[in-house]
Amino acid sequence: MPEDYYQVLGLEREATKDEIKKAYRKLARQYHPDVTTEDKEVAEERFKTVSEAYEVLVDDEKRKVYDQYGHAGLSGSFSGGSFTWDDFSHFEDLSDIFGGMGGFGGSIFDMFFGGGGQQRRSRGPRQGDSLRYDIEVTLEDAFKGLTKEIDVPHTVQCSDCKGTGGKGGDVQTCSECGGAGQVQSIRNSGFGRFVSVSVCPKCHGEGRTYKERCPSCNGAGREQRSSKITINIPVGVEESTRLRVPGAGDAGAQGGPPGDLFVVIHVRPHKVFRRDGSNLWLELTTTYPKLALGAEVEVPTIQGESAMLKIPAGTQVDTVLRMPGQGLPRMGGGPRGDQLVRVRIQVPKKLSSQEKELLRKLDGEDGNKGGIFENIFRK
Ligand SMILES: [Zn+2]
Ligand SMILES: [Zn+2]
Repeated sequence: MPEDYYQVLGLEREATKDEIKKAYRKLARQYHPDVTTEDKEVAEERFKTVSEAYEVLVDDEKRKVYDQYGHAGLSGSFSGGSFTWDDFSHFEDLSDIFGGMGGFGGSIFDMFFGGGGQQRRSRGPRQGDSLRYDIEVTLEDAFKGLTKEIDVPHTVQCSDCKGTGGKGGDVQTCSECGGAGQVQSIRNSGFGRFVSVSVCPKCHGEGRTYKERCPSCNGAGREQRSSKITINIPVGVEESTRLRVPGAGDAGAQGGPPGDLFVVIHVRPHKVFRRDGSNLWLELTTTYPKLALGAEVEVPTIQGESAMLKIPAGTQVDTVLRMPGQGLPRMGGGPRGDQLVRVRIQVPKKLSSQEKELLRKLDGEDGNKGGIFENIFRK
């Protein structure tokens, strides 16, 4: 169970905005990993939790939703369904808190955004998430190749606001930051010149402002959709092959490009053939006389119709007979693999008295020295 946001900040439910800010400042100072006296990992986790609570309670709309529906109501407010640092839009408040403490404001971003390319700090255009889609095909599909249509659930640009998040697509470039989503301030001190970059206070890093949120997507600029996507599964496709469909992932944020879709292909095991690269293995069960005398037998092939396989006289059990070019095509081109047939025999469990007599004769029990089969094998 997620903790109650008011409890996290130690507040009553009627707390005013000032009280919320005050409580957050106190806790942020206590748990900021750079200044905390507690275990660093625990403090980091706590710092994130109090920041999440602050993000919700200081925002009138989010607070209203939370008061009414609790945590369950908020999943739509966070870009990934639950709170991450990407959803935190009050870095300027943190700069206030740590600004007087020797530039902690800047290091916060680096800490949570992995070394902080300035791009990551901005909430401006961001590429959408890439998605993975798993699909299973048969060995026959891998032999022939396949064109297939799949339904992919993903987010797409909101059609009402063209992805801008503003009602009717009405947005302006932020006048404060010129669309960059961040502002620079230069400060001179006795030690030198400090340049600090912080999120634009006017647009909260989005780089643009709008009069009214788009009601269809609640300002997100994206909506959930299922799209039909045609994929071409190549001839000879191998297990776990990944096909990339550029731009078929989730829509980007703030006009950023969409992510990619990766289709991962699994080849279902076959009832008759076992695959080994581009070769196909087959077990052939035949009779003792056919191995001893030689024969032509029908065997199945992956292309559907059966083929004739010649068993040479005197073939031993477990011999592997090769059918060149009867395997699978190779994914990148090149000659087809082979079909490899391992020979087995089936020993009958029940015999008539006539059959028994014949077999005894063959085995030399009737005085015929060595028996017929042994004579054949000796040749
Ligand atoms: Zn919209
Ligand atoms: Zn701005």
